[in-house]
Amino acid sequence: MYRTHTCGELRAAHIGQNVTLAGWVQTVRKFGSITFIDLRDRYGITQLLFGEELNKELAENPLGREFVLQAKGKVNERTSKNPQLATGDIEILVQSFTILNKAATPPFTIQDDTDGGDDLRMKYRYLDLRRQAVKKNLELRYAVNRAARNYLHENNFMDLETPFLIKSTPEGARDFVVPSRMNPGQFYALPQSPQTFKQLLMVSGYDRYYQIVKCFRDEDLRADRQPEFTQIDCEMSFVEQEDILAMFEGMVKYIFKAVKNIDYTATVERMTWENAMWQFGNDKPDIRFGMKILNLKSAFTVGGKLLATGELINGAGFGVFDNAETVLAISVPGCSEYTRKQTDELTDWVKRPQIGMQGLVYIKYNADGSLKSSVDKFYPEDKLRAIAEAAGAQKGDLLLLLAGREERTRKAMSELRLEMGKRLGLRKEDEFKLLWVLDFPLFEYAEDENRWVARHHPFTSPKPSDINVMIDNSPVIENAEKYLEHPYNHIKANAYDMVLNGNEIGGGSIRIYQRELQEKMFAALGMSPEEALHKFGFLLGAFEYGAPPHGGIAFGFDRLCAILGGSESIRDFIAFPKNNSGRDVMLDAPSTIDDKQLVELSIRLSVDNVGRENA
Ligand code: ASP
Repeated sequence: MYRTHTCGELRAAHIGQNVTLAGWVQTVRKFGSITFIDLRDRYGITQLLFGEELNKELAENPLGREFVLQAKGKVNERTSKNPQLATGDIEILVQSFTILNKAATPPFTIQDDTDGGDDLRMKYRYLDLRRQAVKKNLELRYAVNRAARNYLHENNFMDLETPFLIKSTPEGARDFVVPSRMNPGQFYALPQSPQTFKQLLMVSGYDRYYQIVKCFRDEDLRADRQPEFTQIDCEMSFVEQEDILAMFEGMVKYIFKAVKNIDYTATVERMTWENAMWQFGNDKPDIRFGMKILNLKSAFTVGGKLLATGELINGAGFGVFDNAETVLAISVPGCSEYTRKQTDELTDWVKRPQIGMQGLVYIKYNADGSLKSSVDKFYPEDKLRAIAEAAGAQKGDLLLLLAGREERTRKAMSELRLEMGKRLGLRKEDEFKLLWVLDFPLFEYAEDENRWVARHHPFTSPKPSDINVMIDNSPVIENAEKYLEHPYNHIKANAYDMVLNGNEIGGGSIRIYQRELQEKMFAALGMSPEEALHKFGFLLGAFEYGAPPHGGIAFGFDRLCAILGGSESIRDFIAFPKNNSGRDVMLDAPSTIDDKQLVELSIRLSVDNVGRENA
């Protein structure tokens, strides 16, 4: 028997017992004629004490870090206890040991505060995974997985697998493709999600489906994306939006309880997409704090009085405001005492290329009621006060204003709001706030192609009240400049996103389930009937055989884990992640393949030896 206990198991109650442990050597500390070794496994660390006798044996067989060791001995009470360690009351007085395997000196220390850089740790991921900090993340991942499964199982969902080798139907992201040897010149695609399969399962009558499943998207990797990632993918039949919202806020609350012991009893807030964009500047607002964005060019009600703030800010001779498409403000609580240095630094912050603004205007609404602003010259104090109050500022607040083109300014203000929230400590890691964002537009206008694209995906249904708008109107955009006026621009989707602390953790929709409407949708997206049949004939066909009303949702499993683990990076929660260029640096993948393999696959590379030196 290799071991009687794990390295995290022994306590004072075991004192006097003979035990056998096996694990990895964390540290070796020599003190004269005795040696202490910390032995580590998945469950913890136990201190081993090698007395004088064994020390001689140790001298002949020196132990290095990460050696795999088996030690037999007696559990002793420690003279100096270590309250930091679960096993800190005891140590093992070793009677005999066996080196089960040697280890080369690891390229970085296997500790929480390791000396290994990112790349090195990714290359030796199997060593990185030994570190407690990483292990904790994977344990959390497993706990979330188990909780989700328990909840879904309790609610009658069936875990059904769907294929990975499917048909390429790029819409949205790019597909990863796999050449078929048996069908020369033909390719499978890896699924971007099991979307159409889960809908087919509904047609087949499996009314509650789920899968914790890999999805593949060949996207340019923006920060913290992975080309393969995991979803908790779900679908239900005979449901309306409310049924889905109730079922899945239940699931997330269940996960909170199971994984973090949090009783999320509050009602999950809801917000329309329009309000999210309007008040927070993005479609996944962090509602742990306020600081809503205010449009100073539109009218506000202050104390029941309607104030046209546009009139307050326009025509003052301050060209930046006078000529701007929009002027947006946030009121930062309690920051009126910011120094010149601090406001200058914020100005530099908004001028960074990632934010891209020309400048920042501030109004300090001092505690004594006086006002100070970077545009004092143009606005007398009473006007500044009227602006500040219209914008909802209170004495002691700092009003930050950005002006420019609508879309860019709103985006910049959204970033600035998040940044100020962070600086003021309002985005607390241990506070969790869920939000449903509802009523998304069904379509988005793709300027470069002058056509509509589905904002969620082409299987999402319009709101029942908007179905006729879609059926009765042609999708053709006669005048690209006036696309905003096209009826399709006002159609709302029967879709919903779940947002947690400013991150989209899930998204889904009620689906189209009639062939005619689905055909109309494909046509709206610019697909010819032949193309629609070629790509999605199977689904259109299935809709003719009694498709039930259905809808679903998918949660970004990696992201959910990262947020629950208090991390910004999903990579930390994936056992074997890819780096930012989509490479697995441990495997050195992707890589070239043999000419023989290419021949078998009937593939000739268009550029010879592209990247072949990496082989
Ligand atoms: N398949 C969708 C996605 O991956 C989610 C859904 O609509 O259920 O975003």
